Amino acid sequence: MNKPSKVGFVSLGCPKALVDSERILTQLRSEGYEIAADYDGADVVVVNTCGFIDSAKEESLSAIREAMEENGRVIVTGCLGPEEEKIREVAPGVLAVTGPHQYEAVVNEVHKAAPQPHDPFTHLVPPQGLRLTPRHYAYLKISEGCNHRCKFCIIPSFRGDLVSRPVRAVLREAEKLVEAGVQEILVISQDTSAYGVDKKHAAEKWKDKDVRAHMTDLCAALGEMDVWVRLHYVYPYPHVDDVIPLMAEGKILPYLDIPFQHASPKVLKAMKRPANEQKVLERIHKWRDICPEIVIRSTFIVGFPGETEEDFQYLLDWLKEARLDRVGCFKYEPVEGAAANELPDQVPEEVKQDRWNRFMEVAQAISAEKLQERVGLEMAVLIDDVDEDGAVGRTYADAPEIDGKVYLPSATDLIPGTMVMAYITEATDYDLIGEVVFDDEDEDDDW
Ligand code: SF4
Repeated sequence: MNKPSKVGFVSLGCPKALVDSERILTQLRSEGYEIAADYDGADVVVVNTCGFIDSAKEESLSAIREAMEENGRVIVTGCLGPEEEKIREVAPGVLAVTGPHQYEAVVNEVHKAAPQPHDPFTHLVPPQGLRLTPRHYAYLKISEGCNHRCKFCIIPSFRGDLVSRPVRAVLREAEKLVEAGVQEILVISQDTSAYGVDKKHAAEKWKDKDVRAHMTDLCAALGEMDVWVRLHYVYPYPHVDDVIPLMAEGKILPYLDIPFQHASPKVLKAMKRPANEQKVLERIHKWRDICPEIVIRSTFIVGFPGETEEDFQYLLDWLKEARLDRVGCFKYEPVEGAAANELPDQVPEEVKQDRWNRFMEVAQAISAEKLQERVGLEMAVLIDDVDEDGAVGRTYADAPEIDGKVYLPSATDLIPGTMVMAYITEATDYDLIGEVVFDDEDEDDDW
């Protein structure tokens, strides 16, 4: 039998792009391709790119350049795909360029570049597919595309309108992940609250129950799977209120990732943000009454065209009152093709920088205060990494990659994926330090 061809893979961008990479890899592996660990061993290299903002495009172009220099046989896919001329400017010799979600097109290009006879006896793929995240957590993509047209965003122009996956397919995938040992499911999409709108929330049978293609039903069904379920990219539509009781009951994690982007009604209107008319502060207070341990993470943009000092001050006051737990902030950056580029009153760079500094100062102080409140508590920690210095994990309050960590300095004998109870001894601005109380192998584990 021929030696199997090897494919190198570089995956850039957001969790949604990561899920695309996993799909492509799963398909290739099931056809008998091997995955090369480095450029040298690869017969062809696939680069899955990000094209969201200019700095991400730059990073993608330099990854393509590097793959060309190191290997020379490169297929480009992903969000930068629609800008083929740019790619060919830096790397004229790339074998092919395909766009986002064109799984079949990428796989076809790999077939041309490195043919591989299928041998089902030697090339088995686990039923849950191949994943790029550690074995104990996985991203679950519930839809593609978005029905909104935020002025700073070009995602709908290449990902199209919302297309939700059938609810049974989503739940089946989640079940397979859990069967394969996943302990934490991270629900992702462009707009999680809008899940099922395109399907008119049609119901399907799942375990003898009718489950609608709707965020609330999906959360309730995922909540039966007995693993951590974490919601990302949630817009504060009214029905988000209905998932808070599921959090209070411990069915899904009391964690909401809501990309607010701003608080000033005037700026939100200029951005054309969805669900900005809701009385968000009031609702956050109500959510905390129902589920006091709820953690809210968000991202914001400062320096959007037309943002005045008054608007910015409104945002700062809002943040002080909302006391969000985890906050990221970006200085507004024009993205090629975005409608916001045409808006008047662009904010000068030094003003953006000043606002960013002031915003982060407030956000950091809130984070530090909130983390101090955790000192002296015992918290469940999911272990992500272990080395000779100890273990690093996360509580329910932290998503992988984007939030804080819990350091357990003396815990060198743990295994990634283990859930332990930890006593929190110290807090820094963004992270916690603790010691293991007992792990989930212990008999008296009752949490
Ligand atoms: S909600 Fe707005 S920012 Fe998010 S993908 Fe849709 S258009 Fe872009």
